[in-house]
Amino acid sequence: MLTHLECTRCGEHYPADRAQSVCPQDAGILYARYDLPAIKAAFSSARLAGRADALGELLGEEHDLAVLAERVRSDAHGQRARSTLGRGSRRALLKAIARRRRRLRKRALRDGGRLYARRPKRFVRRVIAAVEISRR
Ligand SMILES: [Zn+2]
Repeated sequence: MLTHLECTRCGEHYPADRAQSVCPQDAGILYARYDLPAIKAAFSSARLAGRADALGELLGEEHDLAVLAERVRSDAHGQRARSTLGRGSRRALLKAIARRRRRLRKRALRDGGRLYARRPKRFVRRVIAAVEISRR
């Protein structure tokens, strides 16, 4: 999101990936320039809400599968005369459910870690304040 460095004296642009603080041409101080619309978009509340919603879906599916696995297990030990599944099918189904639940938990942990890693509003406010100071 750091787009480039800009000389405060001549206005020349330099790539942001090079570590330098003064302009090679006139020794003007270089300021970091940010892609503010991109920063705002990345941390917009709508986008965050969408990501939180997707995480909720993941966890909901994981929960549904836990309930399903419990049903399949109790089907084997229940009082009912006839089980709906054979032993082999039941085992295969439980294995598939367990595999899917592991994947969902892994994704939920990864997405949740990203979603809650920082406080977006405060972060954006600080970046914008820093950029505004640098423009004075
Ligand atoms: Zn310059």
